Parts: sequence; structure tokens; C-alpha cells
Amino acid sequence: MTFDYDVLIVGAGPGGIFSAWELAKKSALRVGVLELGRPLEQRRCPIDGKKIKSCVKCPVCSIMSGFGGAGAFSDGKYNITNQFGGTLYEHVGKDEAIALMRYVDEINVAHGGEGTKLYSTADTKIKRTCLENGLHLLDAQVRHLGTDINYVVLSRIFDELKERVDFRFNTAVERIERVEGGFRLHTAAGESFTAPKCIVSVGRSGSKWMESVCREMDIPTLSNRVDIGVRVELPAEIFAHLTDELYESKIVYRTEKFEDLVRTFCMNPHGVVVNENTNGIVTVNGHSYEDPAKHTENTNFALLVSKHFSVPFKDSNGYGESIARLSNMLGGGVIVQRFGDLVRGRRSTEARIRDSFVTPTLAATPGDLSLVIPKRILDGIIEMIHALDKIAPGTANDDTLLYGVEVKFYNMEVTLDENLQTAVPGLYVIGDGSGVTHSLSHASASGVHAARHILADSGYGIRN
Ligand SMILES: Cc1cc2nc3c(=O)[nH]c(=O)nc-3n(C[C@H](O)[C@H](O)[C@H](O)COP(=O)(O)OP(=O)(O)OC[C@H]3O[C@@H](n4cnc5c(N)ncnc54)[C@H](O)[C@@H]3O)c2cc1C
Repeated sequence: MTFDYDVLIVGAGPGGIFSAWELAKKSALRVGVLELGRPLEQRRCPIDGKKIKSCVKCPVCSIMSGFGGAGAFSDGKYNITNQFGGTLYEHVGKDEAIALMRYVDEINVAHGGEGTKLYSTADTKIKRTCLENGLHLLDAQVRHLGTDINYVVLSRIFDELKERVDFRFNTAVERIERVEGGFRLHTAAGESFTAPKCIVSVGRSGSKWMESVCREMDIPTLSNRVDIGVRVELPAEIFAHLTDELYESKIVYRTEKFEDLVRTFCMNPHGVVVNENTNGIVTVNGHSYEDPAKHTENTNFALLVSKHFSVPFKDSNGYGESIARLSNMLGGGVIVQRFGDLVRGRRSTEARIRDSFVTPTLAATPGDLSLVIPKRILDGIIEMIHALDKIAPGTANDDTLLYGVEVKFYNMEVTLDENLQTAVPGLYVIGDGSGVTHSLSHASASGVHAARHILADSGYGIRN
């Protein structure tokens, strides 16, 4: 059979991009990338903060889809660590996982990231202060590109890749068919493309589709966890001693009441809180710019609790979705509440938010998060806010804003071998869509890893 391409990649997020990079830079293989979203420069979220203040549920979300994937307008924090961001190391080994993440970092730095800072938790005194207060700081190096430099890096990488890789945007893949010696990918527009190898990198937005592919092709999967919580927004000064030194601190706390683990996630000094639309459900997220001119007065971060259901109920994501739907039902989208209102058992109102000393960076609906978030999770979050108040006094101020809900959906975990190949030979699943990664650096690294296996298999060997 004559194939259209040597390798087809589904999804142009970080996973897909770095697979394409590795294949294009190190071989003459014909590579095609099918992406349901738009090219980078055409990606525009209609929310302008004036006429359109909240998510209007576009059929294709420009925040989640298109060149750059969910990472395009993210804060561009590339965490180099095995302690969080995914379990790639379980497949490739700890040293190799770190080496792959460093390789991705080098490419980002060479494409516009050269002036950005690499922060590190090594030798910090903050670790000890945390321990003294029952908090645990996880180890990591973090390259903060910022939303603006991240965009520059993606544009430059695309300019280089487009000469060698055939990108097809506005092209949703509907079905993967096994054909002799490879695969035929059927698109929503009725086209089809063939290749002997296929890398699927559809991220969180492609989670439902990924499940259907695994069902249809008999690829075993495991249920995964869901993280539920809130995004905290407070004056940047309160966390400045942590963010100036570490930029992002991943801190874990075990609650006294239920012994649940609550952790900080995605810290954005001087950042903004944003909506996120996953399969039509509006949740909250955050990012910040490297350019000081775009800084706000606030820092935001998530506080999350993990829930993993197995017997008899398995659908952890479904549980998270129901909670997010409830907040969407009550608030028409994301709900915002002052911490002081939450602990006093009353809802926040427009007037209370207006009178607050913290100005929200997202136009959310004032309301009552205790009507949405299960008690056990909310109690854990309140306990953690008080614990953080000991290392960052002011965290538990009445005017600290909580946006809900923040939900981190994890795809079911696809059963993969050490090369990230499924039980179907030639079919690789990488990035967040595999359930193995949950971050920019791990997703990108997984793309390089799968591509290197294809290169070795095609006789190109591995050249670093
Ligand atoms: C607002 C925001 C901020 C974030 N900030 C950070 C951060 O600072 N640091 C960090 O480490 N992580 C961050 N993340 C998470 C990070 O963006 C993801 O972990 C990462 O993008 C995963 O890469 P991926 O390639 O696996 O998937 P994605 O980036 O989700 O890309 C998947 C691509 O596949 C496409 N696709 C899906 N289904 C199909 C289909 N059927 N056919 C064709 N194409 C399809 C999608 O349109 C999408 O473009 C953030 C996420 C968001 C939303």
C-alpha cells in the first residue's frame, strides 16, 4: 500500500509539536499533523472583558485548540521535575525523563526563551519554613516563559517546522482505522489520510474522543484521578517572598480533619484568572505575562484535592464534571467568593466584591462555593488556606478571592509500553491525552520520546 505520509500526528499541542520537531529535524520522513483548531495567529478567544465578559462556548475553543494546544496562552511554565506534571518516568525512567525535559527546554530557549529565568528549589530556605508549618515544598526547576514569550517561541518553532511538516488545521480526526501496514485517519470533513505510524496527542480537550478510540481499537485503559478545588487570588505582595525566589512553589499539605492531601498548583505572580472550557464545561485557570507592562497587582494559584474512584464507581472525571456543571448552573459560569464570606457562611454579592480590597481579574459571578464544592474538599481547602497563612501571612484575609471551580481532568490512562506505543503496533499515544502527562514539559518530552522510537524503527537511529 502507498501511504500519504510516513507519520501522522493527531493534535498540534506541545506533545504533537515536539514529535513533529524531532521527526522533521532528524529524518527525511514525511510528517503530517492534523489539528482541529486554527493556526496560532488565528486563535482568538472572544472574551474581551468589555462586550463579552465570559465564555460563549465556541464550537472550537481557541484557548484549548489550535497550534500550541492548551499550552498556547498558558503561563508557559515548563517544570523540569519528576515530582509532578505526570508520570512519564514510569515509562522511560527518571534520568531519561529529566534529560528529555532539558532537551525541550534547550529548544524553547533557542527559539525566543533565551532571556527567561530558570528558577530552582535547590538550597532554598523556604523548604524549611514550609516544614516547620506542616507544609511540604516539592523539588523542581521551572522555566517561566510567560504567556507572551511562549507565543514567540511557538511562532518561531512553527516557522521552522512548516517548511518540513504538512500542517492541516481545522481538521478534526473522527476515526482511526487499521489498514494493512498502518492506519487510515478519517476526518470530520470526509477526507482521509494514511500512514504506517500514527502518534495521537489530543490533550485534555480530546479526552472523550481518545476514550472512543481506545474502545474501538481494544486498547486497555485505567481510570485516572480528578483534581477539584478553587483558584485563589490575592495581592501579589503576600506571596512575593516565594514567587520572587521560586516563581512557582508546589506545596502539599495533609489536612488534620480527613488526612487528605491539598496542594498548590499553577502559581501566577502578577497574573490573571481566566475561564477554561473543556467539552462545554466552564472552569477556571490562570496565567501571567513575562512583560512587566502586563503585570497585574494580584497573584493567583489553585488549591486542589485529588479524588480517584475505582469500585463500584469508576468515572472520576464524571464526578468532577458534575461539580463543575453545578457551579455553571448556579453561576452561569465561574463563581467568585471572598474567603471572609465563605467562612461566615454567606454568599458574596456584587457589592461585597466591589468593596473588597482585592480587585478580581476575571469577571465571575459572585456566589457561594459551599453550595457547589463537597464539604470534605472545601474543609480541606479552608484548612490549607490557614496553613499557608503561616508562611505567607495575609493568605487567610477576608478579601482573598476564591474562584470555583477549578477542575483538573485527567484522561483515563492508556496502557502503553516503554516507547509510549499502544498494544496496536505503530500507534503511539502521548501527552495529556495518554493520561501519562499533565504538563507542558512532560507532554513535550513524551512527544520527543515517541518520535525517537519511530526514528530508530525507521532506521534513522537516535541522534541527540
Ligand atoms: C489556561 C491554561 C494554562 C496552563 N498553564 C500551564 C503551565 O503554565 N505549565 C504547564 O506545565 N501546563 C500548563 N497547562 C497545561 C498544559 O497546557 C497541558 O499540559 C499541555 O498543553 C498538554 O499538551 P498536549 O500536547 O498533550 O495537549 P494539548 O495542548 O491539549 O493539545 C492537544 C491538541 O489536540 C487537538 N485535538 C484534540 N482532539 C483532536 C482531534 N480529534 N483531531 C484533531 N486534533 C485534535 C486539540 O485541538 C489541541 O490543539 C495549562 C493549561 C491551560 C488550559
